[in-house]
This record gives sequence, structure tokens and C-alpha cells, in this order.
Amino acid sequence: MKKAILITIGDEILSGNTIDTNSNFIATELKNIGIQVSEIFTISDEIGKIKSTLQLAFESADVVITTGGLGPTRDDKTKKALAEFFNDEIALDEVTFEHLKKYMAKRGRLEILERNREQAFVPTTSTVFQNHYGTAPCMMMQLGEKLSFSLPGVPYEVKPLLKDQIIPYLKEKFNLNYITSRIVSVVGIPESILADRIESWELALPENLSLSYLPVGTRVKLRLTAIGTDHVFLHKQLEDEIKKLFPIIGEHIIATTEDKIEKILGEILTEKKLTVSTAESCTGGELARLIVSSPGSSTYFMGGVIPYATEKKIEILKVSQNTVDAYTVVSEEVASEMSKGCQKMFGTDISLSTTGVAGPGKGEDGKEVGTVYYTIRIHDQEKTSKLYLPHLERSDFSYFVSQKIIQDLV
Ligand code: ATP
Ligand code: MG
Repeated sequence: MKKAILITIGDEILSGNTIDTNSNFIATELKNIGIQVSEIFTISDEIGKIKSTLQLAFESADVVITTGGLGPTRDDKTKKALAEFFNDEIALDEVTFEHLKKYMAKRGRLEILERNREQAFVPTTSTVFQNHYGTAPCMMMQLGEKLSFSLPGVPYEVKPLLKDQIIPYLKEKFNLNYITSRIVSVVGIPESILADRIESWELALPENLSLSYLPVGTRVKLRLTAIGTDHVFLHKQLEDEIKKLFPIIGEHIIATTEDKIEKILGEILTEKKLTVSTAESCTGGELARLIVSSPGSSTYFMGGVIPYATEKKIEILKVSQNTVDAYTVVSEEVASEMSKGCQKMFGTDISLSTTGVAGPGKGEDGKEVGTVYYTIRIHDQEKTSKLYLPHLERSDFSYFVSQKIIQDLV
């Protein structure tokens, strides 16, 4: 496996003023073509330091990627360090200069200052990848079979340079495959039982697919990874295999895409022009928080209440005292009445309610910790479900109940 080392150059990162998001992005992109990042250095804008770190990086990596310090200002020293390290001269590159002039003209800057022209000076042995979103080009240098790429620091310049030019270049150069993954999030089933249930599905996976289990609290993320040369084909393969999981463990799956479920809910509600409201007891507002975390939620989310105390459920949502007395407050009947009251109060198409025992102690009526009833009411139809999640921490509890409700609704 090819190895890469990333070098983030910039005093402002060391001082804590800028968070290094470039490394995160670059490491992910490299991983997707099977290049492993073995180390990430963050160093100051000093020529000596840049050169010694390049030296160190080339000792073990096949690919070295630097970001930052390519600007036209005095504090940017990467280019000079690069030239010194490779015993090269810096000279004007005509192609880059033409690109720069066009880039600036497009933005209405017709006068080229000397400072701008300097951006088209590159080490004479470098291969240039033109920057379409800024003035500093990316320079590739070669040391035997090893390569270095020096990119500017600005993230919105780094991303397209990497994605559109460097990644395809590396893929071709080293004859690499694409690696694509999908995550399936599963709740309410221990890892070992899950493994048993999906064993025959796993054994029948195509050869270029592999599965890994990532337990997170009481949730298990299944990561399905595909390797191959055709991006589109890999995505289809993953999609097909995930579909086959539904008849086996469908009731435990809460997400199959990186897209958040609340975002998907938002899209559906917007499209169908439906409104929603929430009445939450044991989830304490988490459900509403998830719903409003999607941009545009103001078009479908009308509001929510958190009547935590029993008397508030009676007072605000008109849950009847008789129902509470007959069935206790953590019950299917109370969840149902809460949703009715909520729907009426907010005048929404859909209302969602929760009542349960989040713990740590038993509920006042002796209900077990982790017992939850939730109702999804759509117009005059409703469905109440029960969950029993005794192993969840209090903080996970609200989140998972809320996720589950949104999942059901979607
Ligand atoms: P410029 O032409 O803008 O000076 P440059 O190549 O010299 O580009 P820097 O001066 O090092 O790049 O950084 C420019 C800006 O990009 C910084 O002010 C910072 O906001 C952002 N930046 C730099 N490095 C990183 C990084 N590793 N992660 C996220 N943002 C960064
Ligand atoms: Mg700069």
C-alpha cells in the first residue's frame, strides 16, 4: 500500500487561530484511492523547518502533500523552501502566467502587480496543476519515484485541486483502485447476535466487497467497503447489497447513508407539504432539536412542547387523569393522548409524542428503565410503538428514541 505524509504549513495553525481542516479532507480523499496517510506534521512558516520536514517525510512516504504558505506575502515561504530542497531555481512559467492573467481578468483585475506575477514563478523542474479558484498553483516535484505536491492553504482551493486533478493523477500514475464505503447503522441488537443473523449475507458478498463492524455504544455501524476501478459500478454494488439486508434485519436499521435521517425527513415533508409538531417527555426536546437541525425546517416544523411532569401533560396536552390512573403515565394510552393534544394545539398534519423512563431509577409507577412509548399521529391515523432500551446511557437514550421515531416516520 502506498503511503503519504501530509505537511500543514502555517504559524496561524500552530497559534490555534485556524483549525487544520485540510489534512482531514486530504486524508479522506487519499484513503478512497487506497493511499494511507501515515503521518501528519503541522509546522511553522520557516524555510529551515519546511526543508527538514520534507526530508523526514520523503524517508518513508511515497507521496508528500504540503498545504499553505504559497501566497504572495512575505510570510509565505513554502516555494522558496521547495526550490532549496530540490536544488532548483524559481522561474516564471509562461503557461501559469497566462492562466493567472485570465483568472484575474475574469475577476475584473486587469492590472497585474509584481506581487501577483510572482505567483507564476515556480521551481523549473516542477509540474504545475493550475488553480481555478485562486492565484497560487499546485506544484508537483519528483524525487526518484516519490512525489510531492505543494498546495495553497485556503480550503476551497485545496479541495478542487485535490479532487479534480491530484487524485485522478495519482490513481492513474500508481494504477490504483477506488475504495468506496457505505455505513449501515443498526440499533437494538448486540454485535454477536447481529453477526449471526447476517452471516449468510456476509458470506455471499461479492469478492471485492468487505464488511467491518464498528460498535458505538449500543449501536453497531456496519461498514461495507467496495474496491474496484469503476466508481459508478461500486456505488451500485453497495446499494444492492444494502437492500438485501432489509429482509434480514430491517427493523434494526436506522440509517444507510451518510445523509442524516432528519434531512431526509425534511425533504419528504417539504415535498408533501406536511407539517409536524412534537410533545416530548422522556426525550426532553431532542426530537425537536433533531427536526430543526435541518435547514428549511421552519416550513414544516410548527413547534413542540416538553410537558415533563405528569400534571403538565394533563394541563397542556389535555391527557386525562383517568387514563394516567388506569394505565400509568408511561403507557401506550398516554402517548396516544399526548399526540392528539399536540396535534390539536399546533394544528399540524403530523404530531409525535414520547413518554418513557430514561433512568437512572425506575419510573414512579415501577416501569423499567428504558421503557418508551411513542406515537406517530398522521391526520386521524396513529400508531404507538414501544421500545425497551435498558442498556442505553441517558444521553444516548433521547437521541436513539428520536432517531427511531424519525426513521419510522420516513
Ligand atoms: P494565500 O494566497 O491566501 O496566502 P497560502 O497558500 O499562502 O494562500 P496560507 O496563507 O497558509 O495559504 O493560508 C491561507 C488561509 O487558508 C489561512 O488564513 C487559513 O484561513 C486557511 N488555511 C490555511 N491552512 C489551512 C488548513 N490546514 N486548514 C484549514 N484552513 C487553512
Ligand atoms: Mg498566505
